[in-house]
Amino acid sequence: MRVTDLISQQSYAQDRKVGALIVKEGNIISFSYNGTLSGQHNCTVDASGRTMDKVLHAETQAIAKVARSAQSTEGATLYSTLSPCIECAKLIAQVGISRLIYRNTYKYTEGIDFLKKAGILVNEEDNHIRNISPEWLSKTGLL
Ligand SMILES: [Zn+2]
Repeated sequence: MRVTDLISQQSYAQDRKVGALIVKEGNIISFSYNGTLSGQHNCTVDASGRTMDKVLHAETQAIAKVARSAQSTEGATLYSTLSPCIECAKLIAQVGISRLIYRNTYKYTEGIDFLKKAGILVNEEDNHIRNISPEWLSKTGLL
């Protein structure tokens, strides 16, 4: 997760910096942070400090980068410094990502609930480390 921390610091977001990383078969296939479309001005909040609609979340940005490459997200793991919102959760499930590991919990948890119901392995980083069991390891394919 140190890598995702470093990635999050690349974000121009003034309110919250989020980093996401996609790993498949031991290789990093994508990483990104919350921000605007490529080539657009990097301002992410309006005059009142509210996040503007044009901002894409780190998870969406990371998945979009894979879509523009020859890679596939099928069976990949997404690491994020923040748990996903419901819109990113839908995208994560739909592109075949099979595991999510996040550090901090977003104020709305319906994204996590959605992914769990969709059969995706979801682990908060601390739980991920604390709850290592043979069953868990066999589910992740690490055993
Ligand atoms: Zn999101």
